[in-house]
Amino acid sequence: MTEAADLRAHFLDEVGRRVGDVEIVTGAACATRYRDPFALVPSAGAEAAIRPGSASSVQAIVQIANTFGAALWPISRGENLGYGGAAVSDKCIVLDLMRMNRILEVNVPDGFCLLEPGVSFVELFEHLEAHDIPLWLSVPGYGLGSVVGNALERGVGNSPYGDHAAQICGLEVVLGNGDLIRTGMGALSGSGMWQRQKTALGPRLDELFVQSNLGVVTKMGLWLMPEPEASVVVDVEIEERETLGACIEALASLKRRGLLPDAPVVSNYLTKAALVSRRSDWIDGSTPLDVSAIDRVRKKLGVGWWNAKIRIYGLPTVLEIALHSTLEAMRQLPACTCTVSKWRRGAPKHLAPRGVPSGEGLVNSRWCGSTGAHIDFAWTLPLSGAEVLRNSTEMEKKLFATGLDYHSSFYVRDRHVLNVVQILFDQQDSGMCAAIDALYLSLIADAARDGFGMHRVPLRYRAHAAEMFGFGGHALAQCRERLKQALDPNGVISPTKASSTEKV
Ligand SMILES: Cc1cc2nc3c(=O)[nH]c(=O)nc-3n(C[C@H](O)[C@H](O)[C@H](O)COP(=O)(O)OP(=O)(O)OC[C@H]3O[C@@H](n4cnc5c(N)ncnc54)[C@H](O)[C@@H]3O)c2cc1C
Repeated sequence: MTEAADLRAHFLDEVGRRVGDVEIVTGAACATRYRDPFALVPSAGAEAAIRPGSASSVQAIVQIANTFGAALWPISRGENLGYGGAAVSDKCIVLDLMRMNRILEVNVPDGFCLLEPGVSFVELFEHLEAHDIPLWLSVPGYGLGSVVGNALERGVGNSPYGDHAAQICGLEVVLGNGDLIRTGMGALSGSGMWQRQKTALGPRLDELFVQSNLGVVTKMGLWLMPEPEASVVVDVEIEERETLGACIEALASLKRRGLLPDAPVVSNYLTKAALVSRRSDWIDGSTPLDVSAIDRVRKKLGVGWWNAKIRIYGLPTVLEIALHSTLEAMRQLPACTCTVSKWRRGAPKHLAPRGVPSGEGLVNSRWCGSTGAHIDFAWTLPLSGAEVLRNSTEMEKKLFATGLDYHSSFYVRDRHVLNVVQILFDQQDSGMCAAIDALYLSLIADAARDGFGMHRVPLRYRAHAAEMFGFGGHALAQCRERLKQALDPNGVISPTKASSTEKV
Protein backbone atom coordinates (compact mmCIF):
# COMPACT_ATOMS: atom_id res chain seq x y z
CA MET A 1 0.00 0.00 0.00
CA THR A 2 1.37 3.45 -0.89
CA GLU A 3 1.69 6.13 1.76
CA ALA A 4 -1.28 8.03 0.25
CA ALA A 5 -3.47 4.91 0.17
CA ASP A 6 -2.47 4.11 3.74
CA LEU A 7 -3.41 7.61 4.88
CA ARG A 8 -6.74 7.41 3.04
CA ALA A 9 -7.56 4.05 4.66
CA HIS A 10 -6.81 5.46 8.13
CA PHE A 11 -8.87 8.55 7.43
CA LEU A 12 -11.85 6.47 6.22
CA ASP A 13 -11.57 4.22 9.30
CA GLU A 14 -11.60 7.27 11.54
CA VAL A 15 -14.63 8.72 9.75
CA GLY A 16 -16.45 5.39 10.02
CA ARG A 17 -15.62 5.18 13.72
CA ARG A 18 -16.38 8.77 14.77
CA VAL A 19 -19.16 9.94 12.46
CA GLY A 20 -22.47 8.22 13.04
CA ASP A 21 -24.42 8.92 9.89
CA VAL A 22 -22.19 8.06 6.93
CA GLU A 23 -21.87 5.54 4.14
CA ILE A 24 -18.40 4.84 2.78
CA VAL A 25 -17.95 3.53 -0.74
CA THR A 26 -14.70 2.15 -2.16
CA GLY A 27 -13.55 -0.26 -4.86
CA ALA A 28 -15.22 -0.90 -8.18
CA ALA A 29 -18.60 0.53 -7.12
CA CYS A 30 -16.88 3.82 -6.31
CA ALA A 31 -14.73 3.98 -9.44
CA THR A 32 -17.73 3.27 -11.67
CA ARG A 33 -20.01 5.82 -10.04
CA TYR A 34 -17.57 8.70 -9.52
CA ARG A 35 -16.10 9.41 -12.93
CA ASP A 36 -16.95 11.38 -16.02
CA PRO A 37 -19.02 9.16 -18.29
CA PHE A 38 -18.28 11.61 -21.14
CA ALA A 39 -14.53 11.87 -20.55
CA LEU A 40 -12.30 12.59 -23.54
CA VAL A 41 -9.46 10.81 -21.80
CA PRO A 42 -10.42 7.67 -19.85
CA SER A 43 -9.68 7.85 -16.13
CA ALA A 44 -9.82 5.34 -13.31
CA GLY A 45 -12.60 6.98 -11.31
CA ALA A 46 -12.50 7.96 -7.65
CA GLU A 47 -11.01 5.58 -5.08
CA ALA A 48 -13.28 6.47 -2.16
CA ALA A 49 -16.48 8.34 -1.44
CA ILE A 50 -18.22 9.36 1.77
CA ARG A 51 -21.96 9.97 1.90
CA PRO A 52 -22.94 11.89 5.02
CA GLY A 53 -26.54 12.21 6.15
CA SER A 54 -26.45 15.58 7.91
CA ALA A 55 -24.65 18.91 8.16
CA SER A 56 -23.17 17.91 11.52
CA SER A 57 -21.70 14.78 9.90
CA VAL A 58 -20.22 16.94 7.12
CA GLN A 59 -18.68 19.18 9.76
CA ALA A 60 -17.21 16.21 11.62
CA ILE A 61 -15.76 14.75 8.38
CA VAL A 62 -14.15 18.08 7.44
CA GLN A 63 -12.67 18.38 10.92
CA ILE A 64 -11.19 14.87 10.72
CA ALA A 65 -9.89 15.62 7.20
CA ASN A 66 -8.05 18.60 8.67
CA THR A 67 -6.27 16.44 11.20
CA PHE A 68 -5.37 13.78 8.59
CA GLY A 69 -4.49 16.21 5.77
CA ALA A 70 -7.08 14.49 3.57
CA ALA A 71 -8.70 16.27 0.61
CA LEU A 72 -12.46 16.11 -0.05
CA TRP A 73 -14.41 17.03 -3.18
CA PRO A 74 -18.06 17.86 -2.39
CA ILE A 75 -20.72 17.05 -4.97
CA SER A 76 -24.47 17.35 -4.53
CA ARG A 77 -25.63 14.63 -6.93
CA GLY A 78 -22.69 14.31 -9.32
CA GLU A 79 -24.72 14.79 -12.48
CA ASN A 80 -22.54 17.55 -13.89
CA LEU A 81 -22.63 15.98 -17.36
CA GLY A 82 -20.92 17.96 -20.08
CA TYR A 83 -18.71 19.63 -17.44
CA GLY A 84 -16.95 16.61 -15.92
CA GLY A 85 -19.81 14.52 -14.49
CA ALA A 86 -18.92 13.09 -11.08
CA ALA A 87 -15.19 13.13 -11.77
CA VAL A 88 -13.04 14.68 -9.07
CA SER A 89 -9.35 15.46 -8.87
CA ASP A 90 -7.44 12.22 -8.20
CA LYS A 91 -6.08 13.59 -4.95
CA CYS A 92 -9.59 13.82 -3.49
CA ILE A 93 -12.13 11.66 -1.72
CA VAL A 94 -15.65 12.34 -2.97
CA LEU A 95 -17.97 13.92 -0.41
CA ASP A 96 -21.31 12.96 -1.96
CA LEU A 97 -24.21 14.88 -0.38
CA MET A 98 -27.00 13.02 -2.22
CA ARG A 99 -28.37 11.51 1.02
CA MET A 100 -28.97 15.00 2.41
CA ASN A 101 -32.09 15.56 0.31
CA ARG A 102 -34.66 17.22 2.55
CA ILE A 103 -36.81 20.06 1.29
CA LEU A 104 -36.72 22.07 4.50
CA GLU A 105 -39.15 24.83 3.57
CA VAL A 106 -41.19 26.10 0.67
CA ASN A 107 -42.69 29.52 1.22
CA VAL A 108 -45.52 30.23 -1.20
CA PRO A 109 -46.33 33.92 -0.63
CA ASP A 110 -42.70 34.99 -0.72
CA GLY A 111 -41.61 32.46 -3.36
CA PHE A 112 -38.58 30.75 -1.88
CA CYS A 113 -37.35 27.39 -0.69
CA LEU A 114 -34.66 26.12 1.64
CA LEU A 115 -33.00 22.94 0.44
CA GLU A 116 -30.37 20.42 1.37
CA PRO A 117 -27.83 19.80 -1.39
CA GLY A 118 -29.04 16.36 -2.47
CA VAL A 119 -32.51 17.55 -3.56
CA SER A 120 -32.86 16.96 -7.30
CA PHE A 121 -34.87 19.12 -9.68
CA VAL A 122 -37.22 16.17 -10.10
CA GLU A 123 -37.77 15.84 -6.32
CA LEU A 124 -38.45 19.55 -5.92
CA PHE A 125 -40.81 19.56 -8.91
CA GLU A 126 -42.69 16.52 -7.58
CA HIS A 127 -42.99 18.17 -4.16
CA LEU A 128 -44.51 21.32 -5.71
CA GLU A 129 -46.88 19.21 -7.80
CA ALA A 130 -47.93 16.95 -4.92
CA HIS A 131 -48.81 19.94 -2.74
CA ASP A 132 -50.28 21.98 -5.59
CA ILE A 133 -47.85 24.81 -4.85
CA PRO A 134 -48.09 27.67 -7.37
CA LEU A 135 -44.33 28.18 -7.74
CA TRP A 136 -42.47 27.38 -10.96
CA LEU A 137 -39.00 25.96 -11.38
CA SER A 138 -36.31 27.01 -13.77
CA VAL A 139 -34.65 23.77 -14.90
CA PRO A 140 -31.55 22.88 -16.91
CA GLY A 141 -31.81 20.90 -20.17
CA TYR A 142 -30.80 17.81 -18.20
CA GLY A 143 -32.90 17.78 -15.05
CA LEU A 144 -31.69 14.79 -13.02
CA GLY A 145 -29.01 16.75 -11.17
CA SER A 146 -29.30 18.69 -7.95
CA VAL A 147 -30.78 22.15 -7.56
CA VAL A 148 -27.94 23.20 -5.24
CA GLY A 149 -24.99 21.81 -7.27
CA ASN A 150 -26.40 23.35 -10.43
CA ALA A 151 -26.80 26.80 -8.86
CA LEU A 152 -23.31 26.56 -7.33
CA GLU A 153 -21.86 25.98 -10.80
CA ARG A 154 -23.87 28.92 -12.23
CA GLY A 155 -26.27 26.63 -14.06
CA VAL A 156 -28.90 28.09 -16.37
CA GLY A 157 -32.53 27.41 -17.23
CA ASN A 158 -35.22 29.03 -19.31
CA SER A 159 -37.29 31.43 -17.22
CA PRO A 160 -36.85 34.88 -15.71
CA TYR A 161 -35.22 32.92 -12.85
CA GLY A 162 -32.89 31.14 -15.30
CA ASP A 163 -29.65 32.55 -13.86
CA HIS A 164 -29.70 30.04 -11.00
CA ALA A 165 -26.80 31.47 -8.97
CA ALA A 166 -28.58 34.83 -8.96
CA GLN A 167 -31.55 33.23 -7.14
CA ILE A 168 -29.45 32.08 -4.17
CA CYS A 169 -30.56 33.78 -0.96
CA GLY A 170 -28.72 32.53 2.10
CA LEU A 171 -26.37 29.57 2.54
CA GLU A 172 -25.25 27.31 5.33
CA VAL A 173 -21.63 26.30 4.75
CA VAL A 174 -19.05 24.13 6.45
CA LEU A 175 -15.81 26.01 5.79
CA GLY A 176 -12.60 24.19 4.97
CA ASN A 177 -11.38 24.76 8.52
CA GLY A 178 -14.48 22.99 9.90
CA ASP A 179 -16.44 26.07 11.02
CA LEU A 180 -20.17 26.11 10.26
CA ILE A 181 -21.54 29.47 9.11
CA ARG A 182 -24.84 30.86 7.86
CA THR A 183 -24.58 33.76 5.44
CA GLY A 184 -26.58 36.99 5.42
CA MET A 185 -29.60 37.19 7.68
CA GLY A 186 -29.06 33.53 8.62
CA ALA A 187 -26.45 34.74 11.10
CA LEU A 188 -29.09 36.70 13.01
CA SER A 189 -30.43 34.02 15.34
CA GLY A 190 -34.18 33.60 15.19
CA SER A 191 -34.58 35.87 12.16
CA GLY A 192 -37.14 34.85 9.57
CA MET A 193 -35.33 36.95 6.96
CA TRP A 194 -32.66 34.46 5.82
CA GLN A 195 -34.34 33.57 2.51
CA ARG A 196 -36.06 36.94 2.09
CA GLN A 197 -33.12 39.31 2.00
CA LYS A 198 -30.00 38.70 -0.08
CA THR A 199 -27.89 41.27 1.73
CA ALA A 200 -27.25 41.82 5.41
CA LEU A 201 -24.85 44.08 7.24
CA GLY A 202 -21.45 43.84 5.53
CA PRO A 203 -20.37 42.17 2.26
CA ARG A 204 -22.65 39.53 0.75
CA LEU A 205 -20.78 36.24 1.11
CA ASP A 206 -23.07 33.90 -0.86
CA GLU A 207 -21.02 34.50 -4.03
CA LEU A 208 -17.83 33.36 -2.26
CA PHE A 209 -19.14 29.80 -2.41
CA VAL A 210 -20.21 29.81 -6.08
CA GLN A 211 -17.74 27.98 -8.43
CA SER A 212 -15.57 27.93 -5.35
CA ASN A 213 -13.53 25.64 -3.14
CA LEU A 214 -13.87 27.45 0.17
CA GLY A 215 -16.52 25.30 1.81
CA VAL A 216 -19.22 22.64 1.61
CA VAL A 217 -22.71 24.06 1.15
CA THR A 218 -25.10 22.16 3.41
CA LYS A 219 -28.23 24.32 2.94
CA MET A 220 -29.28 26.76 0.25
CA GLY A 221 -32.09 29.29 0.08
CA LEU A 222 -33.35 29.87 -3.43
CA TRP A 223 -36.00 32.15 -4.91
CA LEU A 224 -38.66 30.46 -7.04
CA MET A 225 -40.94 32.09 -9.61
CA PRO A 226 -44.56 32.63 -8.52
CA GLU A 227 -46.97 31.18 -11.06
CA PRO A 228 -47.82 34.08 -13.40
CA GLU A 229 -51.35 35.08 -14.37
CA ALA A 230 -50.53 34.40 -18.00
CA SER A 231 -47.67 33.71 -20.39
CA VAL A 232 -46.83 33.92 -24.06
CA VAL A 233 -44.18 32.02 -25.96
CA VAL A 234 -42.96 33.37 -29.26
CA ASP A 235 -41.12 30.82 -31.41
CA VAL A 236 -39.16 32.48 -34.17
CA GLU A 237 -37.87 30.41 -37.08
CA ILE A 238 -35.05 32.14 -38.93
CA GLU A 239 -34.08 30.96 -42.43
CA GLU A 240 -30.65 32.47 -42.92
CA ARG A 241 -27.52 31.87 -40.89
CA GLU A 242 -26.43 35.52 -41.27
CA THR A 243 -29.61 36.83 -39.62
CA LEU A 244 -28.24 35.81 -36.20
CA GLY A 245 -26.65 39.26 -35.73
CA ALA A 246 -29.88 41.16 -36.44
CA CYS A 247 -31.84 38.79 -34.20
CA ILE A 248 -29.46 39.32 -31.27
CA GLU A 249 -29.60 43.10 -31.80
CA ALA A 250 -33.40 43.04 -31.77
CA LEU A 251 -33.52 40.91 -28.61
CA ALA A 252 -30.86 43.10 -26.97
CA SER A 253 -32.98 46.17 -27.60
CA LEU A 254 -36.04 44.49 -26.05
CA LYS A 255 -33.93 43.42 -23.06
CA ARG A 256 -32.46 46.89 -22.56
CA ARG A 257 -35.95 48.37 -22.50
CA GLY A 258 -36.96 45.90 -19.80
CA LEU A 259 -39.60 44.19 -21.96
CA LEU A 260 -38.16 40.67 -21.61
CA PRO A 261 -37.31 39.56 -18.05
CA ASP A 262 -36.50 36.08 -19.42
CA ALA A 263 -33.19 35.39 -21.22
CA PRO A 264 -34.43 34.49 -24.73
CA VAL A 265 -32.44 31.70 -26.29
CA VAL A 266 -31.42 31.39 -29.94
CA SER A 267 -30.30 27.89 -30.99
CA ASN A 268 -29.35 26.39 -34.31
CA TYR A 269 -30.94 23.51 -36.26
CA LEU A 270 -28.81 20.89 -34.52
CA THR A 271 -30.50 21.42 -31.13
CA LYS A 272 -33.68 19.76 -32.42
CA ALA A 273 -31.91 17.35 -34.78
CA ALA A 274 -29.72 15.90 -32.02
CA LEU A 275 -32.79 15.23 -29.87
CA VAL A 276 -34.76 13.32 -32.49
CA SER A 277 -32.19 11.74 -34.78
CA ARG A 278 -28.59 10.65 -35.22
CA ARG A 279 -26.03 12.13 -37.55
CA SER A 280 -25.89 8.89 -39.54
CA ASP A 281 -29.52 9.60 -40.55
CA TRP A 282 -28.29 12.63 -42.47
CA ILE A 283 -24.75 12.03 -43.69
CA ASP A 284 -22.41 9.12 -44.39
CA GLY A 285 -18.98 9.01 -42.84
CA SER A 286 -17.57 11.30 -40.21
CA THR A 287 -17.36 14.65 -42.00
CA PRO A 288 -19.43 17.48 -40.46
CA LEU A 289 -22.95 18.06 -41.79
CA ASP A 290 -22.56 19.96 -45.07
CA VAL A 291 -24.91 22.53 -46.59
CA SER A 292 -27.12 19.95 -48.30
CA ALA A 293 -27.35 17.79 -45.16
CA ILE A 294 -28.26 20.87 -43.12
CA ASP A 295 -30.98 21.69 -45.68
CA ARG A 296 -32.36 18.16 -45.40
CA VAL A 297 -32.38 18.38 -41.59
CA ARG A 298 -34.21 21.69 -41.70
CA LYS A 299 -36.83 20.61 -44.26
CA LYS A 300 -37.56 17.26 -42.63
CA LEU A 301 -37.71 18.59 -39.08
CA GLY A 302 -39.28 21.96 -39.94
CA VAL A 303 -36.70 24.08 -38.12
CA GLY A 304 -34.93 27.31 -39.01
CA TRP A 305 -31.16 27.71 -39.32
CA TRP A 306 -31.68 29.60 -36.05
CA ASN A 307 -34.68 29.19 -33.76
CA ALA A 308 -35.39 31.76 -31.07
CA LYS A 309 -37.62 31.08 -28.09
CA ILE A 310 -38.93 34.11 -26.26
CA ARG A 311 -41.05 33.68 -23.14
CA ILE A 312 -43.01 36.50 -21.55
CA TYR A 313 -44.85 36.18 -18.24
CA GLY A 314 -47.17 38.37 -16.18
CA LEU A 315 -50.51 40.17 -16.21
CA PRO A 316 -52.34 39.71 -19.53
CA THR A 317 -52.49 43.46 -20.21
CA VAL A 318 -48.77 43.92 -19.55
CA LEU A 319 -48.01 40.83 -21.64
CA GLU A 320 -49.83 42.23 -24.66
CA ILE A 321 -47.58 45.31 -24.70
CA ALA A 322 -44.39 43.22 -24.52
CA LEU A 323 -45.78 40.78 -27.10
CA HIS A 324 -46.63 43.59 -29.51
CA SER A 325 -43.09 45.06 -29.27
CA THR A 326 -41.51 41.61 -29.60
CA LEU A 327 -43.47 40.68 -32.72
CA GLU A 328 -42.81 44.10 -34.24
CA ALA A 329 -39.05 43.62 -33.70
CA MET A 330 -38.94 40.00 -34.88
CA ARG A 331 -41.02 40.61 -38.00
CA GLN A 332 -38.44 43.09 -39.21
CA LEU A 333 -35.92 40.26 -39.51
CA PRO A 334 -35.61 38.90 -43.05
CA ALA A 335 -37.14 35.48 -43.79
CA CYS A 336 -38.48 34.64 -40.39
CA THR A 337 -41.78 33.26 -39.10
CA CYS A 338 -43.22 33.77 -35.63
CA THR A 339 -45.56 31.37 -33.85
CA VAL A 340 -47.32 32.61 -30.73
CA SER A 341 -48.62 30.28 -27.98
CA LYS A 342 -50.61 31.76 -25.11
CA TRP A 343 -51.42 30.31 -21.71
CA ARG A 344 -53.60 31.65 -18.91
CA ARG A 345 -53.82 30.55 -15.29
CA GLY A 346 -56.55 27.90 -15.07
CA ALA A 347 -55.67 26.36 -18.47
CA PRO A 348 -54.05 22.89 -18.35
CA LYS A 349 -50.65 23.15 -16.66
CA HIS A 350 -48.95 20.87 -19.17
CA LEU A 351 -49.44 23.62 -21.75
CA ALA A 352 -47.70 26.22 -19.57
CA PRO A 353 -44.09 27.21 -20.36
CA ARG A 354 -42.80 26.18 -16.95
CA GLY A 355 -39.76 24.13 -16.11
CA VAL A 356 -40.45 20.40 -15.99
CA PRO A 357 -37.24 18.50 -15.20
CA SER A 358 -36.42 15.35 -17.09
CA GLY A 359 -33.48 13.31 -18.30
CA GLU A 360 -34.66 13.39 -21.90
CA GLY A 361 -32.07 16.00 -22.94
CA LEU A 362 -29.43 13.32 -22.57
CA VAL A 363 -30.63 11.74 -25.81
CA ASN A 364 -28.56 14.25 -27.77
CA SER A 365 -25.34 12.68 -26.58
CA ARG A 366 -26.24 9.75 -28.86
CA TRP A 367 -25.94 12.01 -31.95
CA CYS A 368 -22.71 10.22 -32.90
CA GLY A 369 -24.05 6.77 -32.04
CA SER A 370 -24.38 4.54 -29.02
CA THR A 371 -20.91 5.50 -27.75
CA GLY A 372 -21.66 9.19 -28.19
CA ALA A 373 -20.96 11.84 -25.57
CA HIS A 374 -20.77 15.60 -25.24
CA ILE A 375 -18.67 18.29 -23.65
CA ASP A 376 -19.84 21.89 -23.27
CA PHE A 377 -17.95 25.06 -24.12
CA ALA A 378 -19.74 27.84 -22.21
CA TRP A 379 -18.42 31.38 -22.64
CA THR A 380 -19.74 34.90 -22.70
CA LEU A 381 -19.88 37.56 -25.41
CA PRO A 382 -21.00 41.19 -25.51
CA LEU A 383 -24.62 42.07 -26.19
CA SER A 384 -23.80 42.90 -29.80
CA GLY A 385 -25.24 41.28 -32.91
CA ALA A 386 -22.07 41.87 -34.93
CA GLU A 387 -19.81 40.30 -32.26
CA VAL A 388 -22.10 37.32 -31.74
CA LEU A 389 -22.32 36.63 -35.48
CA ARG A 390 -18.55 36.99 -35.95
CA ASN A 391 -17.78 34.65 -33.05
CA SER A 392 -20.40 32.15 -34.10
CA THR A 393 -18.93 31.99 -37.62
CA GLU A 394 -15.40 31.58 -36.23
CA MET A 395 -16.49 28.88 -33.80
CA GLU A 396 -18.31 26.97 -36.55
CA LYS A 397 -15.19 27.08 -38.75
CA LYS A 398 -12.99 25.73 -35.95
CA LEU A 399 -15.42 22.91 -35.20
CA PHE A 400 -15.79 21.99 -38.88
CA ALA A 401 -11.98 22.01 -39.28
CA THR A 402 -11.83 19.45 -36.44
CA GLY A 403 -14.53 17.33 -38.09
CA LEU A 404 -17.29 18.33 -35.64
CA ASP A 405 -20.86 19.50 -36.12
CA TYR A 406 -21.93 22.90 -34.80
CA HIS A 407 -24.47 22.81 -31.92
CA SER A 408 -24.88 26.25 -30.38
CA SER A 409 -27.27 28.21 -28.13
CA PHE A 410 -27.12 31.90 -27.27
CA TYR A 411 -28.84 33.12 -24.09
CA VAL A 412 -29.51 36.85 -24.38
CA ARG A 413 -29.01 38.32 -20.93
CA ASP A 414 -29.23 41.86 -19.55
CA ARG A 415 -25.70 42.97 -20.46
CA HIS A 416 -24.07 40.02 -22.21
CA VAL A 417 -24.78 36.89 -24.23
CA LEU A 418 -24.00 33.44 -22.85
CA ASN A 419 -23.02 30.99 -25.59
CA VAL A 420 -23.15 27.26 -24.87
CA VAL A 421 -21.61 25.12 -27.60
CA GLN A 422 -22.27 21.41 -27.13
CA ILE A 423 -19.45 19.42 -28.70
CA LEU A 424 -20.99 16.08 -29.64
CA PHE A 425 -18.54 13.26 -30.29
CA ASP A 426 -17.98 9.50 -30.35
CA GLN A 427 -16.06 8.42 -27.26
CA GLN A 428 -14.67 5.38 -29.11
CA ASP A 429 -12.90 7.62 -31.60
CA SER A 430 -9.67 8.27 -29.71
CA GLY A 431 -8.25 10.42 -32.53
CA MET A 432 -11.31 12.67 -32.36
CA CYS A 433 -11.13 12.83 -28.54
CA ALA A 434 -7.50 13.97 -28.72
CA ALA A 435 -8.39 16.57 -31.34
CA ILE A 436 -11.24 17.93 -29.16
CA ASP A 437 -8.93 18.05 -26.15
CA ALA A 438 -6.48 20.24 -28.11
CA LEU A 439 -9.32 22.29 -29.62
CA TYR A 440 -10.80 23.03 -26.21
CA LEU A 441 -7.51 24.47 -24.94
CA SER A 442 -7.11 26.61 -28.04
CA LEU A 443 -10.71 27.86 -27.82
CA ILE A 444 -10.08 29.02 -24.23
CA ALA A 445 -6.90 30.83 -25.31
CA ASP A 446 -8.53 32.40 -28.40
CA ALA A 447 -11.47 33.62 -26.32
CA ALA A 448 -9.12 35.19 -23.74
CA ARG A 449 -7.08 36.85 -26.50
CA ASP A 450 -10.29 38.55 -27.65
CA GLY A 451 -11.20 39.55 -24.08
CA PHE A 452 -13.84 36.86 -23.47
CA GLY A 453 -13.85 34.50 -20.51
CA MET A 454 -15.36 31.14 -19.67
CA HIS A 455 -18.72 30.95 -17.91
CA ARG A 456 -18.30 27.39 -16.65
CA VAL A 457 -15.58 24.86 -17.38
CA PRO A 458 -15.16 21.08 -17.12
CA LEU A 459 -12.77 20.08 -14.38
CA ARG A 460 -10.08 19.10 -16.89
CA TYR A 461 -9.79 22.67 -18.23
CA ARG A 462 -10.50 24.68 -15.09
CA ALA A 463 -6.88 25.59 -14.37
CA HIS A 464 -6.25 26.62 -17.99
CA ALA A 465 -9.33 28.82 -18.00
CA ALA A 466 -8.41 30.38 -14.63
CA GLU A 467 -4.88 31.08 -15.89
CA MET A 468 -6.30 33.47 -18.51
CA PHE A 469 -7.39 35.92 -15.81
CA GLY A 470 -3.86 37.32 -15.47
CA PHE A 471 -4.25 41.04 -14.70
CA GLY A 472 -1.60 42.40 -12.33
CA GLY A 473 0.49 39.22 -12.34
CA HIS A 474 -2.55 37.07 -11.52
CA ALA A 475 -3.47 39.36 -8.62
CA LEU A 476 -7.03 38.01 -8.55
CA ALA A 477 -5.81 34.40 -8.22
CA GLN A 478 -3.47 35.47 -5.44
CA CYS A 479 -6.30 37.23 -3.62
CA ARG A 480 -8.40 34.04 -3.88
CA GLU A 481 -5.43 32.05 -2.62
CA ARG A 482 -5.27 34.29 0.47
CA LEU A 483 -8.99 33.68 1.05
CA LYS A 484 -8.34 29.96 0.67
CA GLN A 485 -5.52 30.13 3.21
CA ALA A 486 -7.77 31.94 5.67
CA LEU A 487 -10.84 29.69 5.32
CA ASP A 488 -9.25 26.36 4.41
CA PRO A 489 -5.62 26.50 5.57
CA ASN A 490 -5.01 22.77 5.11
CA GLY A 491 -6.49 22.68 1.61
CA VAL A 492 -9.19 20.18 2.55
CA ILE A 493 -11.92 21.24 0.08
CA SER A 494 -11.44 20.59 -3.67
CA PRO A 495 -7.81 21.80 -3.53
CA THR A 496 -7.22 21.95 -7.29
CA LYS A 497 -10.51 23.69 -8.10
CA ALA A 498 -10.19 27.38 -8.95
CA SER A 499 -6.43 27.10 -8.93
CA SER A 500 -4.67 28.67 -11.90
CA THR A 501 -1.41 26.94 -11.13
CA GLU A 502 -2.23 23.27 -10.71
CA LYS A 503 -3.61 21.42 -13.73
CA VAL A 504 -5.78 18.34 -13.27
C1 LIG B 1 -28.08 17.06 -22.37
C2 LIG B 1 -27.63 17.96 -21.27
C3 LIG B 1 -28.17 19.21 -21.14
C4 LIG B 1 -27.76 20.07 -20.11
N1 LIG B 1 -28.35 21.28 -20.02
C5 LIG B 1 -27.98 22.11 -19.01
C6 LIG B 1 -28.61 23.38 -18.90
O1 LIG B 1 -29.51 23.74 -19.66
N2 LIG B 1 -28.21 24.18 -17.87
C7 LIG B 1 -27.24 23.79 -16.99
O2 LIG B 1 -26.95 24.55 -16.08
N3 LIG B 1 -26.64 22.60 -17.10
C8 LIG B 1 -26.97 21.74 -18.08
N4 LIG B 1 -26.36 20.51 -18.16
C9 LIG B 1 -25.22 20.20 -17.26
C10 LIG B 1 -25.55 19.41 -15.96
O3 LIG B 1 -26.18 18.20 -16.26
C11 LIG B 1 -26.41 20.18 -14.96
O4 LIG B 1 -25.89 21.46 -14.72
C12 LIG B 1 -26.56 19.44 -13.61
O5 LIG B 1 -27.58 20.06 -12.86
C13 LIG B 1 -25.31 19.48 -12.73
O6 LIG B 1 -25.32 18.35 -11.88
P1 LIG B 1 -25.47 18.40 -10.29
O7 LIG B 1 -26.47 19.46 -10.00
O8 LIG B 1 -25.74 17.02 -9.81
O9 LIG B 1 -24.05 18.96 -9.88
P2 LIG B 1 -22.90 18.28 -9.01
O10 LIG B 1 -22.16 17.31 -9.87
O11 LIG B 1 -23.43 17.80 -7.73
O12 LIG B 1 -22.01 19.56 -8.70
C14 LIG B 1 -21.21 20.20 -9.67
C15 LIG B 1 -19.99 20.81 -8.96
O13 LIG B 1 -20.45 21.85 -8.06
C16 LIG B 1 -19.70 21.83 -6.85
N5 LIG B 1 -20.62 21.49 -5.74
C17 LIG B 1 -21.76 20.77 -5.86
N6 LIG B 1 -22.38 20.70 -4.68
C18 LIG B 1 -21.63 21.37 -3.79
C19 LIG B 1 -21.78 21.66 -2.41
N7 LIG B 1 -22.86 21.26 -1.75
N8 LIG B 1 -20.82 22.39 -1.79
C20 LIG B 1 -19.75 22.84 -2.47
N9 LIG B 1 -19.57 22.61 -3.80
C21 LIG B 1 -20.49 21.88 -4.45
C22 LIG B 1 -18.63 20.77 -7.02
O14 LIG B 1 -17.44 21.36 -7.51
C23 LIG B 1 -19.21 19.85 -8.07
O15 LIG B 1 -18.21 19.16 -8.78
C24 LIG B 1 -26.75 19.64 -19.19
C25 LIG B 1 -26.21 18.36 -19.32
C26 LIG B 1 -26.64 17.53 -20.34
C27 LIG B 1 -26.06 16.16 -20.43
